[in-house]
Amino acid sequence: MGGLIGHASIATTRVCAHIMEPGLSAILAMLEFIGFGKPNFVKADVKPDGGHHVIFHVKDNPVIEHASRLFGAKSLVCNWFMGVYAAHGELELGLKHVKVHENKCVCKGARYCEWETRW
Ligand SMILES: [Zn+2]
Repeated sequence: MGGLIGHASIATTRVCAHIMEPGLSAILAMLEFIGFGKPNFVKADVKPDGGHHVIFHVKDNPVIEHASRLFGAKSLVCNWFMGVYAAHGELELGLKHVKVHENKCVCKGARYCEWETRW
């Protein structure tokens, strides 16, 4: 479900990003601006054929923090965000078969959500 929403949100992001410097920095600035929190990349290995292994931490995301207070460990909100990030990876960065998995979650008591994608 998150992937479908993510693909739909790309159009909005593209409208805003075309006035900014293209590439990852523009995408990250836009995502932070619209309330996705600040992603911190701890591993970013991207190959020319689209193969990749990326790990990043997300914290200070007000929606995830609110969902954590409301639903605790039962929250599913991170699935939506991971779908959006997957869509950006495919449509904006040209990565293939992006599936983001969560290793740690604020809703389960971690200091940050750790999301990983590998192909
Ligand atoms: Zn999470």
